Amino acid sequence: MKDVTPHFVLVPLAAQGHMIPMVDMARLLAERGVRVTLITTPVNAARIRTIIDRVRRSNLPVEFVELRFPCAEFGLPEGSENIDLLSTLEHYKAFFDAMKLLKEPIEALLRSQHRRPDCMIADMCNGWTKDVARRLGIPRLLFHGPSCFYILCAYNMAQHRVYDRVTHEFEPVVVPDVPVEVVTNKAESPGFFNWSGWEDLRAEVLEAESTADGVVINTFYDLEPSFVDCYEKIMQKKVWTVGPLCLYSKDVDSKAARGNKAAVDHRDITTWLDRKGASSVFYVSFGSLVLMRPTQLIEIGKGLLECSDHRSFIWVVKEAELVPEVEKWLSEEHFAERTKERGLLIKGWAPQTVILLHPAIGGFLTHCGWNSTLEAISAGVPMLTWPHFADQFLNEKLVVDVLKIGRSLDVKVPRTHVTDDSTLLVTKEKLRKAVSELMEGEEGEEMRRRAKALAEKAKKAMEEGGSSYRNMDDMIECMAGRYGEEEKVEDAVKELSNGFSAHVVVT
Ligand code: UDP
Repeated sequence: MKDVTPHFVLVPLAAQGHMIPMVDMARLLAERGVRVTLITTPVNAARIRTIIDRVRRSNLPVEFVELRFPCAEFGLPEGSENIDLLSTLEHYKAFFDAMKLLKEPIEALLRSQHRRPDCMIADMCNGWTKDVARRLGIPRLLFHGPSCFYILCAYNMAQHRVYDRVTHEFEPVVVPDVPVEVVTNKAESPGFFNWSGWEDLRAEVLEAESTADGVVINTFYDLEPSFVDCYEKIMQKKVWTVGPLCLYSKDVDSKAARGNKAAVDHRDITTWLDRKGASSVFYVSFGSLVLMRPTQLIEIGKGLLECSDHRSFIWVVKEAELVPEVEKWLSEEHFAERTKERGLLIKGWAPQTVILLHPAIGGFLTHCGWNSTLEAISAGVPMLTWPHFADQFLNEKLVVDVLKIGRSLDVKVPRTHVTDDSTLLVTKEKLRKAVSELMEGEEGEEMRRRAKALAEKAKKAMEEGGSSYRNMDDMIECMAGRYGEEEKVEDAVKELSNGFSAHVVVT
């Protein structure tokens, strides 16, 4: 008998902000009756071993396929399998070239399946997947990690080539054809891979976007309806908003295992937060990629130390940021001891969604990475915004100017443009004042109210009958349906020769 279970192949970019929502999506798809193959690599799989084991125990039909990542071929140190493990700009380019080499093993893997998968969902940054999907005759959807607001702005700026006319990187530019006025500049918002030497990659991802069979976005319709409508109209293809993917499950252990093994057990954090009042704790974290320079990091520490109102906080500092200068300052200031009642310093990976969803959290200092932003919205937590690069400056505009659920720290210089290590983009005084306004001020309270209303909408979107729930079903139905049509012509996988051999570890 013919196997009619739809089969989707997911190809994330190996970066935390891209992998985490894709893994969420894999589980969601599987819960809706889809067989899923998720492409990963050994280092990335090791980080989410708990999730892989849980999936296996629950018999969800998700296969995590580990492909060897070709570090050596591109001069990358062994194990450089995720963007957060890269240390130089040259390594970034080499990393994307290495990702591209996964093309052949993926093609070989898919050819070896007993029938062709129904659909490929590939990260926007993996433009090369278009060739694999085309050769195998598999419909391909594009997965966009950032907000639809950002995607729309980036698309229109690329189409209108707005930066061709600017004389310097900070020259203000009005983003064309968006429903609200948005002013940005090339330094803040360069667009996808818009740097010298990356032209091929940029052309490839833009082509992959325009030739995709549809687009999947980790957002929800009620959050940014006019931008979703506008983007769908401009693209002239189906756009499915399926988020917030972070709300896919109510299970706390699953949430805590997202992305990596947490440095502190989430139960201990919850116990600590349980002792605090509602909306009284301030959370500080800058995602997976932003690395603060020691001087700036210490300045944040001073701001938190000197909070006159003895504000409770959780501060996440990455292992890579804990250089001797920072460790020395922490120990000389007796930071842990002085803040032991009111502060929790997490050195390493934090179980972020568990923290944000705790009712004691009342504000979030964020870099405006889209996952962090959406996680804050899903939890009804207002933000202090400090963007660093990529989509973050435009996400900040959405949060502050459009949704009005955040207050900007007014940082106008991207991380890439700070050359002097002693530069302070945010001083402790500025931080202290902003924290206090967000946590106690009337405006902060108003933002919290709006954020909580959005959190309700986010929850509804993901519940049965909600917009994202229905969109997920619609996407599955559309893609699964296409198999039936095309198999009449040929079953490509059965017919095609099986000339490749992939290094595949199916866990
Ligand atoms: N994250 C986490 N713990 C950490 C740091 C980050 O769980 O200590 C998660 C965070 O919840 C989010 C993702 O990593 O899901 C970061 O993605 P985002 O788009 O916010 O920023 P990026 O890391 O891509 O800059």
